[in-house]
Amino acid sequence: MRSLDGMYDLLSDAGIFRRAPWRPLDVVWSEKGLMIKRLFTDMISAEFRANGYEEILLPAFIPDRLLSVEPAHYRDVHRLSYGLASDPECYLRATSECQFAALIAADPAPTSPRRLFQACAVYRRESPDESLPMLRCAEIDPFIEAMTFSGTSPTETERQVSVYESIFRRLCLPVDVVVRPPWDTFPEATQTVAFDMLIPGLGVVQVATVHDLGTSFARVFALRGRDGALLQHSSSGISGRALASALIVHSGGDRVLTPTCLSPTLVAYEPSVPEGLREAVSRCVGASRVSAWDAGAPSVCQAPIRIRVTPDGAAVMTTALGKHVTVPCRSVEHHIRPVLADYDEHLTTRAKRRLACGNGAHVFVADLPWCGQVTCLMPQVARHPRKQFMGCRRSPRQRGKCRHCGSGQQYTARLAVAV
Ligand SMILES: [Zn+2]
Repeated sequence: MRSLDGMYDLLSDAGIFRRAPWRPLDVVWSEKGLMIKRLFTDMISAEFRANGYEEILLPAFIPDRLLSVEPAHYRDVHRLSYGLASDPECYLRATSECQFAALIAADPAPTSPRRLFQACAVYRRESPDESLPMLRCAEIDPFIEAMTFSGTSPTETERQVSVYESIFRRLCLPVDVVVRPPWDTFPEATQTVAFDMLIPGLGVVQVATVHDLGTSFARVFALRGRDGALLQHSSSGISGRALASALIVHSGGDRVLTPTCLSPTLVAYEPSVPEGLREAVSRCVGASRVSAWDAGAPSVCQAPIRIRVTPDGAAVMTTALGKHVTVPCRSVEHHIRPVLADYDEHLTTRAKRRLACGNGAHVFVADLPWCGQVTCLMPQVARHPRKQFMGCRRSPRQRGKCRHCGSGQQYTARLAVAV
């Protein structure tokens, strides 16, 4: 894998984005990059819709009288100098739990479970030292947040976790699903499930989170189901950081590779492909995802499949990972989807290998019995620059002894160790 700066140069050469000339931490999305960004948002939105979530869009301005109702909140929120005519004290949305809760509170007869999501931008203060283009920035766009209000929080939290597992399968990203320890959960959450990736050169990158917020918002917003019981609340978010991670993990050398769900062109055809076959391919994957192969153009951002026809009339599909599949022209339609699925599968296998030994460093994950005390494990980890705390395993609590202090085990800590 390239260095991060080298990766930004590659993505810029591929026409995906470039650094803003007035501030290198900001990016300007190019036309091809915008197509990829829309595919990312559309794919995630489709996953939530398929799981019973209804899409809405809330205002970006949050009045203080609404934000201050929340028991504890994400702290790094931008305050607007002028506010609104109706609300002089006003903030830019960093997350929208209070708005979603207020919406449910205004519903005279809320159905349960109520599953909602929005695709938007959020704005958070970032320290200049930690900012990275696309990965950690003040304007987070896209940001897809989903909320559930129900009588069965654990079930709904698990439902959201399974949606994200499906999303990361489609992005061909091997993520590690961990539970954050109590001192590192989202404000008001009884549990935060995080999807982490250990990217060589970047360390642990959190690409999505699911929070079980219990009844904390229901208490202050008086959210009750038809049976009078307080509603349970789960929230989750995934951002362009997951998109950036996919571009970084799958690309390298002089090529940008994307999983099929993010590929503007799925099939590129060479001049040897006759019109009838082009139409058959278009019927299979959609006309907007098929284009002519331009031999003269830089091929840094490649379609997953390139197709040509041999002089003896066979169709050869070559994937961007170098695999060739030869089939009769008449049966191309039946083979395109399986070849695309095979390409994604190989991209996932390749990503696992690249994450484990990128940049010449081999990284492995170690599980340690842990009492859960910050003072116990964290100082030891901090002393070792090659170790990084990732979170805790989601497995049931075990009855061992803490590896460090010998007291009762509360968690199984996951550490990334570079060797
Ligand atoms: Zn201990």
